[in-house]
Amino acid sequence: MAEETIFSKIIRKEIPADIVYEDDSVLAFRDIAPQAPVHILIIPKQLIPTVNDVKPEDEQVLGHMFVVAAQLARDNGIDADGYRLTVNCNSEGGQVVFHLHMHLMGGRRMQRMG
Ligand code: AMP
Repeated sequence: MAEETIFSKIIRKEIPADIVYEDDSVLAFRDIAPQAPVHILIIPKQLIPTVNDVKPEDEQVLGHMFVVAAQLARDNGIDADGYRLTVNCNSEGGQVVFHLHMHLMGGRRMQRMG
């Protein structure tokens, strides 16, 4: 059984977050330490710790996260200029919260990735 993170508490509304989207399978909220004018985290409500744990049955929710990301990009007015979607995995990928999440970042020009 995977260990819960702070994101499970946000899903259950046990700790506050600036929630910008919610449905049965996905939650999105503003990052507490934004790296861009728009920085939103999109997470599945089910606990998938990392991309390494993704299973074929997760395809629907993971695909849905992209639909939500595109909608939030439009809602935040960054769709035309562009934005970055990032999913970090484990330590060398820069992951610190082990509940899979997609970063939606925009509102400024992104650096080249390194
Ligand atoms: P990662 O490095 O990909 O695991 O990203 C984790 C992200 O979660 C970081 O950008 C943090 O700023 C963000 N974060 C951690 N705790 C919270 C929280 N309570 N509310 C919103 N964002 C958070």
